[in-house]
Amino acid sequence: MNTTATSSSSSKHNVDQAELDKFSALASRWWDPESEFKPLHAINPLRLGWIQDQAGPLSGKTVLDVGCGGGILAESMAQAGAQVTGIDLAEKSLKVAKLHGLESGVPVDYQAISAEDLASRQPARYDVVTCMEMLEHVPDPASIVRACATLVKPGGWVFFSTLNRNPKSFLFAIVGAEYVLRMLPKGTHSYENFIKPSELAAAARQAGLALVQMAGMEYNPIIDLYKLSGDTSVNYLMASRREN
Ligand code: SAH
Repeated sequence: MNTTATSSSSSKHNVDQAELDKFSALASRWWDPESEFKPLHAINPLRLGWIQDQAGPLSGKTVLDVGCGGGILAESMAQAGAQVTGIDLAEKSLKVAKLHGLESGVPVDYQAISAEDLASRQPARYDVVTCMEMLEHVPDPASIVRACATLVKPGGWVFFSTLNRNPKSFLFAIVGAEYVLRMLPKGTHSYENFIKPSELAAAARQAGLALVQMAGMEYNPIIDLYKLSGDTSVNYLMASRREN
């Protein structure tokens, strides 16, 4: 990841339309726990628990979920009592998210706006910002990291998750998940967009976010279970706080 990129605050170019199209094509299946989104459903309680372990109970907090998709994490945070805004640029996914919210009765404010544009309108607005499994789908992830840092209040929490870049993550996240186990459609992830924890930490630091904690997320295909661990070699989460 190019952490020195100096893209402007405008987000017009920080979108890979082919990536958005991939998610739009699957949008109707966001809430099917046996669909391509099964892994996100499976990891959701783990990441929600980890977020609250770090930041404390979400109840009463204002939370922004960047790249919210169909709202799997956003709804669960609202259910935990947070006042949640979810943003994404795949309109079909947002439609599904809104419809699901109507059905479930869990209120989330969904908006089709980029993180960079929202940052220019609402700096220092949120207690907590989450950006999960999204950075590996954008051309300039450092720009998203900066936007998240702008959107959170001083002292507030920003959480990221993404995929590490090394031979093991290539083997597990692409060969294993897409070709052997067929958990994800082929082409879901591009190895060159994976981000090393050191690169994400550097981007966060440059954006004024202090690294608090990293955690790995491991999948055991034999028992079909995920767990949090200290092994950040494939999937990992990062917790950070805005310094001032
Ligand atoms: N964060 C959700 C969904 C992850 S899938 C979860 O973890 O459950 C990745 C999401 O990022 C998709 O919904 C996709 O539409 C979104 N996305 C990709 N590029 C984006 C961009 N430039 N701006 C906003 N969202 C984007």
